[in-house]
Amino acid sequence: MPVPSPLVDRLKNIVGPEYVTEELCDRLVYSKDYSIEGIADDYTPDLVVKPGSVEEIEQIVAAANEFKVPLYTWGAGTSMSGNPLAVYHGIVLDTKRMNRILEVDPANLTITVQAGATMAEVQAAAKKHGVFFTHQPESCLSSTIGGALSCMGMSIFGAKYGYAYDQLVGVEVVLGTGKRIRIGGKSYLSVPSHNLMNLFLGAEGTLGIITEAVLKVYPLPATRDRVSYAFSDITTAMEACKRVHGAGCWPETVYAFDRRSLVQYMERSKTPIPEELSMAVLFGCSGDPDLVEKMLEVISRSCEQENGVRMSDEVTESWWDSVNINRETFDKSNFALSHTDYEPDLIDACVPLSKFQEYSDFCDELKKEFGWVDIDFGAFIVAGPRGPIPFCIYFSVPIDTRIPREIEKWFEFKEKMYSRAIEMGGSVSNANGVGLRSAPWVREQLGDAWELLTDIKSLVDPNNILNRGQRGFE
Ligand SMILES: Cc1cc2nc3c(=O)[nH]c(=O)nc-3n(C[C@H](O)[C@H](O)[C@H](O)COP(=O)(O)OP(=O)(O)OC[C@H]3O[C@@H](n4cnc5c(N)ncnc54)[C@H](O)[C@@H]3O)c2cc1C
Repeated sequence: MPVPSPLVDRLKNIVGPEYVTEELCDRLVYSKDYSIEGIADDYTPDLVVKPGSVEEIEQIVAAANEFKVPLYTWGAGTSMSGNPLAVYHGIVLDTKRMNRILEVDPANLTITVQAGATMAEVQAAAKKHGVFFTHQPESCLSSTIGGALSCMGMSIFGAKYGYAYDQLVGVEVVLGTGKRIRIGGKSYLSVPSHNLMNLFLGAEGTLGIITEAVLKVYPLPATRDRVSYAFSDITTAMEACKRVHGAGCWPETVYAFDRRSLVQYMERSKTPIPEELSMAVLFGCSGDPDLVEKMLEVISRSCEQENGVRMSDEVTESWWDSVNINRETFDKSNFALSHTDYEPDLIDACVPLSKFQEYSDFCDELKKEFGWVDIDFGAFIVAGPRGPIPFCIYFSVPIDTRIPREIEKWFEFKEKMYSRAIEMGGSVSNANGVGLRSAPWVREQLGDAWELLTDIKSLVDPNNILNRGQRGFE
């Protein structure tokens, strides 16, 4: 159903006619994100609006409420879970004009930004002032602060610093009612009572539109170095990570890839990957050169105690270049994402550490059952927030989305994988967002607490305007 014309006129008055579009070619840009869910249905919005200020956002939300038209917040659309998609069409609100860096404050180690700023823009602004903004997803050149805070995403530096949400000390949000609130400030402990900021973290735009964030930055580390080790299986690789932690060593990067993931990531590189490798772990450290040297020594000792074999510096550097994607390093990446006719998607789950191997074996068996014998799935495991012990395991699953039955099979496969994770005492992860991808399992896992969440939703968004149909909110 098209957006009623009085509402279109209202929106044009609020932001200016040049920032409202109903043209199909413009709307199609917002019809898909990077999820397979996005391919499986039509999510083209009826209208796109691009506000330039928080006052405009307040007025847009008020107008959408009056007409009860759904409003979907859109950062860069790099989500892999379908969470910015306009399930009930309506309006997409694109935040990218709200990309100002408002203040870098090295004295107080904070940076204040608008929510549409990209990670790369925030990092560059921080660096200019000699400080370090640590959240670095592989999508950092385009994904926005609003998207990162809303999705609980991961960062290559997460093992030491945590993720985007760990950096938040203050936030401005426009609720579904149109009311603007600010929580927190510039102090690292700005909230004396219940930390209400957490309500909006990982909420995927369902409770409010984040318009501004005060984030932590850190002194720029003097040096950065890394090492990688090959292991015979997942369990020994995880034991090595535990040893590193036990030794009081705090690397900033801990990524564990199986051979297939490594091959995918180093596809463009000529560097040979050792044949016998089953699991490999990349450890990255930063800080004072003496400290970094010592940490790498402790990591090497811990890995060798688990019979890890040190990989060549060439492999380590090539791997690092492929995950450390930002403006300066982009050309060095060996990861070619669009290299086949297949669309990559992810199963991301948290299972108890001792079950990582069993879960990975289950995935391999299921893959055979589904007849996906020629397709390589990669398993990768990440550490963080704040600790070198991994917590989340991902399987990248390439799907031939040109064949509708393959898409259906993907949904069936996903169901079995997530159900198994829960049976094992684990959880569906929201590292890449819940959105349309894993909402049913979240609801199942929350049990009675789901009612509390829906009560909160109806309090802050009584007309269910914000991201209607997402995350299991009907
Ligand atoms: C090649 C590639 C690599 C990736 N690598 C990583 C990675 O390493 N780590 C990682 O975590 N993720 C990764 N992702 C996934 C994705 O980039 C992240 O989830 C990212 O945080 C999404 O940000 P975005 O600005 O694109 O948000 P969008 O995709 O536009 O939106 C995501 C969700 O956030 C909501 N939202 C956006 N802005 C706001 C706002 N201002 N207020 C409230 N809600 C808002 C949307 O409504 C939606 O629910 C990758 C994706 C791709 C395509």
